[in-house]
Amino acid sequence: MTNILSIRNLHKSYGSTVALAGIDLDLRTGESVAIMGASGSGKTTLLHCLAGIITPDAGMVGFAGPHGAQTISAMKETERSRLRRESFGFVFQQGLLLPELTALENVALALMLSGTARAQAEGYAQQWLASLGLAGMEQRRIGELSGGQAQRVAIARAQVTGANVIFADEPTGALDSSTSAEVMDALLKSTVGLGKTLVLVTHDSAVAARCGRLVEVRDGRVIHDSSPTTQPTEAFTAPVRPAQVTQ
Ligand code: ADP
Ligand code: MG
Repeated sequence: MTNILSIRNLHKSYGSTVALAGIDLDLRTGESVAIMGASGSGKTTLLHCLAGIITPDAGMVGFAGPHGAQTISAMKETERSRLRRESFGFVFQQGLLLPELTALENVALALMLSGTARAQAEGYAQQWLASLGLAGMEQRRIGELSGGQAQRVAIARAQVTGANVIFADEPTGALDSSTSAEVMDALLKSTVGLGKTLVLVTHDSAVAARCGRLVEVRDGRVIHDSSPTTQPTEAFTAPVRPAQVTQ
């Protein structure tokens, strides 16, 4: 497998607080990686550096995407925001969905922001919702969905623009264990099930165990990195992208 994201000697501090103290990591295309560690160990900072949300103080973040090798850590904010919009998808514990919009509108909006006309965006969004088990829920507002359903909307929203890498920070942090397992099913089948890469931060060892690889962080350093294994993933048929939706 080829590396899709590589980091070398990554450092990041906030004032006198050292969040990342020299991290090297290679993430392979199509793998699912769980990042675990105590609160404050640097997991979110690591995820945000990988995803180009923040820039490190020192070190390199490289991305081998559809447009060839790119050095995220050297990009200006406008380039990084374009990369995030085109190549990355994000699922957080909560908060990325707009509560005043319906499930369908939340997913379609991601496409409309990248220039897709409403009718096409809604058609494709509807297919993504259906493929994640949300057929019939399209017109519900986010507050009218269960926590697990809302997270599946968030997964659809993260994926609909054709992301190569999905970053998830505590995606099951607010869910009970059976709902958490359902959300992991949806997350895994729609990412690694389609050859995409999943980078997931979690406190939950049951969630981490679903991933093919475990990276443990302490005090801003990687203290353990398991050899990748292949985890069985449910078959998943990707929705058919309409002709006018360009990546
Ligand atoms: P984790 O996600 O593992 O809980 P974080 O990456 O959020 O850890 O934080 C690592 C360290 O950096 C912690 O000590 C945290 O308090 C600090 N930190 C994170 N973000 C900021 C920030 N924006 N300003 C100041 N300190 C921060
Ligand atoms: Mg965190």
